[in-house]
Amino acid sequence: MKGKLYLCPTPIGNLGDITFRTIETLKKVDLIAAEDTRVSMKLLNHFDIKKPVTSYYEHNKREKGGYLIEKLLSGTNVAIVTDAGMPGISDPGEDIVRQCIENNIPVESLPGPCAFATALVASGLPTGRFTFEGFLSVNKKSRREHLISLSDETRTMIFYEAPHKLKYTLSDMAEVFGGDRKIVLARELTKKYEEYLHTTIDGAAVHFEQTPPKGEFVLIISGADAETVQKRHQEELPDADELIKEYIRQGLKGKEIVKLVSEKTNMSKNDAYELFLKLKS
Ligand code: SAM
Repeated sequence: MKGKLYLCPTPIGNLGDITFRTIETLKKVDLIAAEDTRVSMKLLNHFDIKKPVTSYYEHNKREKGGYLIEKLLSGTNVAIVTDAGMPGISDPGEDIVRQCIENNIPVESLPGPCAFATALVASGLPTGRFTFEGFLSVNKKSRREHLISLSDETRTMIFYEAPHKLKYTLSDMAEVFGGDRKIVLARELTKKYEEYLHTTIDGAAVHFEQTPPKGEFVLIISGADAETVQKRHQEELPDADELIKEYIRQGLKGKEIVKLVSEKTNMSKNDAYELFLKLKS
């Protein structure tokens, strides 16, 4: 019989946040695959969990993934843990889960601590629709491209950020989203110095100029106003009258004109056809 892969979330700062089921599962599996074995050993020792531990992290996940799959296929039950939080969320986990699915190996995901969900629900920003964006790249160009791809995003946006990059991220965000966009910076969640800063992107930049950022951060940013985005798109669309006149000048057929105009201006084909008839005469 095949083994099972258990995804075991671990505390993001407060040991009291581990669940009974996670402890039970870690005690019953045959092997624990940990992102950093030294970090996980502290947690396992604290809860008196004595099981073989092996490493599974970003740079060994190819060969270690193969090894773990072989173990699972031969009946070994394996738990995955990372340094903190939910495996697979900006942490190793995604690849081994996919490999398990490809090999028909059962996967059980245990609920538990996750920094972004913890921060989002306490942010006061809309939680109905959101997008989790993980870490932005350290490379300025990629970071800006990532942010620009979100310039029309109307859902609440969530980012993970390291304190030494925060200043640059806030500066790029101010350029792309505008400095007056609402932001909530959730810092050191579940820890002694837990703090939520409700401000604007510019406000955050000023705050951290005066108080250098320390600890771990989740950034929650308000989505763009849907009406403003729609209006801007409308303004950016080419003028249908001018387009039709130009296509008539180029000698395009009526059917082609209607198709092109409706594609380029979001106008319905019927409306484009009526406008075409009017301008043609
Ligand atoms: N797998 C984890 C999870 O489920 O949230 C995330 C791991 S990721 C490598 C680490 C990042 O998560 C940190 O840089 C920070 O952005 C965020 N994070 C983790 N713990 C946090 C905490 N206690 N307070 C605020 N942010 C935290």
